Amino acid sequence: MFRRSILLYSSCRRLSSSSLSRMTPPRFTPAQRVAKFDQDVWSIFTPLAAETKAINLGQGFMNFGPPAVVQNAAKEAIERVEANQYSHPKGRPRLRNALAASYSPEFNRQLDPETEILVTAGANEAMFATFAGYLDEGSEVIVMEPFFDQYIPNITMNGGKPVYVPLRAPSHATTQNISSSEWRLDTDELQSKITPRTKMIVLNTPHNPIGKVFDEDELRAIGKVAEQHDLIILTDEVYDRLYYPPLTKFPRIAALDEFWNRTLTVGSGGKSFASTGWRIGWLIGPEHLIKYAFAAQTRVVFCVNSPCQEAIAAGLEASLTQPLFKDQTANYLQKRAKLSKVFDDLGLPYTSPQGAYYILVNTSKIRYPADYVFPDILHQRGDDFKMCYWLTKEIGVCAIPPSEFYMKDHWPLAKDFARFAFCKTDDVLDQAVDRLKALKKYIL
Ligand code: GLN
Repeated sequence: MFRRSILLYSSCRRLSSSSLSRMTPPRFTPAQRVAKFDQDVWSIFTPLAAETKAINLGQGFMNFGPPAVVQNAAKEAIERVEANQYSHPKGRPRLRNALAASYSPEFNRQLDPETEILVTAGANEAMFATFAGYLDEGSEVIVMEPFFDQYIPNITMNGGKPVYVPLRAPSHATTQNISSSEWRLDTDELQSKITPRTKMIVLNTPHNPIGKVFDEDELRAIGKVAEQHDLIILTDEVYDRLYYPPLTKFPRIAALDEFWNRTLTVGSGGKSFASTGWRIGWLIGPEHLIKYAFAAQTRVVFCVNSPCQEAIAAGLEASLTQPLFKDQTANYLQKRAKLSKVFDDLGLPYTSPQGAYYILVNTSKIRYPADYVFPDILHQRGDDFKMCYWLTKEIGVCAIPPSEFYMKDHWPLAKDFARFAFCKTDDVLDQAVDRLKALKKYIL
C-alpha cells in the first residue's frame, strides 16, 4: 500500500501542471446517507453576513471570548506537555470531576465521574454518538418540530428515521408577543406517533429556536410516554445555564421521578463558557445508557481536545465558588431586553424566550420590494430564506430562517419567522438595533 502510494505520487510528479489541469477530475458516487444533504443554513448565512458586512445575529456564536479564568486555564494547559496529548476517551478526569461537582446538585444525585459522565466533541457529537450507539436501520426517533437542524442528519446517518411531532404556538402569536412557554406539545399527538420501531424521544430545553423551557408537568407527560413504550430520552440541554426570571430553577427530566434510568442529558461548554468553537460537550446519564454512546464515540473521535477540556474544567470549578452563571444570565437578560425593544417599537410580534439566546420574530408585516432579485439557490428553500437574505443584504442585520428547523413539507409553517441571536456585545446589539429601525418604512 505504502509502495503503491509512492508510485502514484511519483507518476503524478511526472505530469506537468498544465497537463494536470486538463485532466477531468474523477467523479465518485457519494454515499446515499449524505448525497441529498442541502447546503446547511449556517454556511449560507454566516458567509453572507461577512461578505455584506451585516451584523451577524444569525448563527448563535458569541463575539466575546470565554471568561478570563477559562482563557487562562487554556493557555496554561497548552504550556503543559501532557495536556496536549490524548486524553482518556471518557474525558479528562479533571473535567469529569468538575462536571460531577457542578451537576450532582442539578440532578439531585451524586454523579459518578467514572461511569455516568462522558466528555464529547461538542454537544453535537454527544448526540451523534448516542444515535450511533442505539439506532439500527429503521429505528424511529421522535423529534419535536421545530428542531435544531443537526438532529436530522445525525439520526439518518445512523440508519434512523426521524418522526416529527409539532410544538405549536397559539393563534394570537401572529399579532402579539407571546412567551415561549405558550408553544405547546400535545401529548396525545406524541403518543400517536409511537410505533413498535420507536426507540427514542429527543427533547430540547431550553429550546432552539423557540427558547421554551419545558416545565415539570410537561416533562412528566413526555417521560410517562417514554416509560409506557420503554423509550430512551435524549435531552439536549446545551442552554441549561441560560434561563431567565421568573424561572428560578431549570427543570431537568432526568431529575424527575424514575426518568433518570432512561435519559441521557447533553450539555455544552461552548454555550456555558462562550467557547462554541472548542467543541467540548458532555453526556450525563446512567452507566447502562452511557456505555454504548461511549463505545461509538471511541470509534469516531477516540478522545476530545485535551487543553480545552482542562479549561472548561477550570470554568466549572470556578463556578462552584463564583457567580459566573448568575452574572452571565444577568448580562443576557439585558441583551434580550435591548433586542426585544426594537421589535416592540417596530410592532413586530415575537416569542420572548424563557431560555437560550434567540428571539423568533414574526416578519409577516415586512414587505420587501416585489421586484427584489434573489439568488437562484434561495428559490429552492422556504420563503423565510428570502426574507432573511433581504434583511442581511439591505437592512444589514443577519437572521436565520427557521424553516431550516422544519421538514420540507412543513417549511410554510416557518415562512413568517426569522430568528435573531442576542449573544453579542452591547455595542454590536446597539448597532443592530439602529439598523433594524430602518425596517419601519417596509412595515405595513
Ligand atoms: N447552535 C448554534 C445556532 O443554532 C450554531 C449551530 C451551528 O452552527 N451548527 O445558531
